[in-house]
Amino acid sequence: LADRLQKTIQKIKGKGKVSEADVKEMTREVRLALLEADVNFKVVKDFVKRVKERAVGQEVMQSLTPGQQVIKVVKEELSDLMGGEQSKIAVANKPPTVIMMVGLQGAGKTTTTGKLANHLRKKHNRNPLLVAADVYRPAAINQLQTLGKQLGMSVFSLGTEANPVDIAKQAMEYAKAEHHDYVIIDTAGRLHVDEKLMGELHEIKSEVSPNEIFLVVDAMTGQDAVNVAESFNEQLDVTGVVLTKLDGDTRGGAALSIKAVTGKPIKFAGMGEKLDQLEPFHPERMASRILGMGDVLTLIEKAQENVDEQKAKDLEQKMRSMSFTFEDFLEQMQQVKNMGPLDDLLSMMPGASKMKGMKNLQVDEKQISHVEAIIQSMTKAERINPEVMNASRKKRIAKGSGTSVAEVNRLLKQFEEMKKMMKQMTNMGKKGKKKGGFK
Ligand code: GDP
Ligand code: MG
Repeated sequence: LADRLQKTIQKIKGKGKVSEADVKEMTREVRLALLEADVNFKVVKDFVKRVKERAVGQEVMQSLTPGQQVIKVVKEELSDLMGGEQSKIAVANKPPTVIMMVGLQGAGKTTTTGKLANHLRKKHNRNPLLVAADVYRPAAINQLQTLGKQLGMSVFSLGTEANPVDIAKQAMEYAKAEHHDYVIIDTAGRLHVDEKLMGELHEIKSEVSPNEIFLVVDAMTGQDAVNVAESFNEQLDVTGVVLTKLDGDTRGGAALSIKAVTGKPIKFAGMGEKLDQLEPFHPERMASRILGMGDVLTLIEKAQENVDEQKAKDLEQKMRSMSFTFEDFLEQMQQVKNMGPLDDLLSMMPGASKMKGMKNLQVDEKQISHVEAIIQSMTKAERINPEVMNASRKKRIAKGSGTSVAEVNRLLKQFEEMKKMMKQMTNMGKKGKKKGGFK
């Protein structure tokens, strides 16, 4: 999806004047891009209509930067399509809050149950009880128990012989007695939607009156995900959707159609198999990501989780003011080591996928120690102001760090490219801020 849209966007971005013909061409491209991305046909039709109306309207035509303005319209409409605002998890007036997980087999219900519990504890200081109500797959209960063990959280189970409705009922009593403030019920799935499955889920629903019914859907299944969402929603009136496997090679179509088709918001996105790889779904950020503007905010948030907050703020400030030095770089490298795979981080940077310099920037984690040594061999003045670097200084540094002048040169070049990239990033961020879009 991103590729196609990005090409069109590049074309239209710099235009000083946008004619109706331009808008027509662009909407045609957007339409194809969305259809190609497996977005529901009806959804695409409405979407294109809205963009067209707004794009030929005054808001765009009379602005000083119509090219930018059209993109803004597309981005806002994309974001609206996915629900606009980020939506929160319900809280029961009288605890525990009950969340029921439903969806097809393999969608990621059990994994998401664990991830959600982890999220609730970490971000909201809650004490969830996990409930193993999938009695059909022999390994399902074990799977949840394993997750519970990893998290150090209680898992309620009555084995595979019990009736799922009884399990849910007794789990509620247990949760109250043990003062759990959230109960997350992992239910069974089938390979396709069928009556028996729906009947059972209905019974559980009437037994425990859940505050949330989260439909877990696999983003990789594209248009199917949307159909599944539609039928689950018709039968159970779900309250929200968790889109899993967004880390995979998905075309993003599901994210774009689900809200439009079901009217139910996507609340979380699964970004990997690990227990901390669940993120609240931000429609606006997803829209930026789709448009290839990158996801600076998620990146900064990630940094904040791993780096202490003040440092992250300082860093952001430095990026904005361009006073980022080798000293910061050194500190950053050390923190980057704790932030997880570099590829993940780089892919969140705006335009990273297109940047030529990107290859050099993919810091080989083994080389980090070399880089550290080089920076440590620089004088303070050199770190702050690398422009003073000359041949004899480079030689001294290479010698001091046990590396070569070529390596020193390479690092200097990388540093320059990194600064350039930061400049791009922060420009992007500012644009977002100005129109009050980013939170
Ligand atoms: P269930 O049958 O709905 O309970 O699905 P599971 O929770 O057992 O998940 C099925 C498979 O999908 C497992 O191998 C999970 O590790 C994997 N999975 C779940 N969520 C994600 C995700 O967000 N990203 C990736 N890459 N894999 C996921
Ligand atoms: Mg399961």
